[in-house]
Amino acid sequence: MKLGDYHKKRDFKKTTEPSGQESDPGLTPLIFVVQKHHASHLHYDFRLAIDGVLKSWAIPKGPSLQPAEKRLAVMTEDHPLEYANFEGVIPQGEYGAGTVEIWDRGTWEPISDLKTWLKTRKLEFVLHGKKLQGVWVLVGFKDEPKNWLLIKKKDILL
Ligand code: MN
Repeated sequence: MKLGDYHKKRDFKKTTEPSGQESDPGLTPLIFVVQKHHASHLHYDFRLAIDGVLKSWAIPKGPSLQPAEKRLAVMTEDHPLEYANFEGVIPQGEYGAGTVEIWDRGTWEPISDLKTWLKTRKLEFVLHGKKLQGVWVLVGFKDEPKNWLLIKKKDILL
């Protein structure tokens, strides 16, 4: 079950985060969200709806709009789609304790094949958010499975 790790890490009697379930993988449009998370270390959680869950990466410095600036993105556990609506305070002592606020959200479109991106370790896509738009790519490190880079691609004027 894709959300096993998500459920294991949280006590839903103590946190107001959604417990959630896997959604229909065919749901469209595909959503994305970036949540600014003031936990023990401030970071930005970048989440893309893929196969009925939110595939998630923690980005310590947040996404950069500059094409030359690669940002480390550490893959974390899948989250339920409902998590895209979550804002609030995760109580002290709980997993991810701190404040979560929605920093950007919208829809996204894959350019890469969603059946093979985990194997090829490359996911190219278009974001339609308020702050984040245009073509982006996530590129996975070869020998560190959790580590990826999020890179903005240059906008091409057509
Ligand atoms: Mn986080």
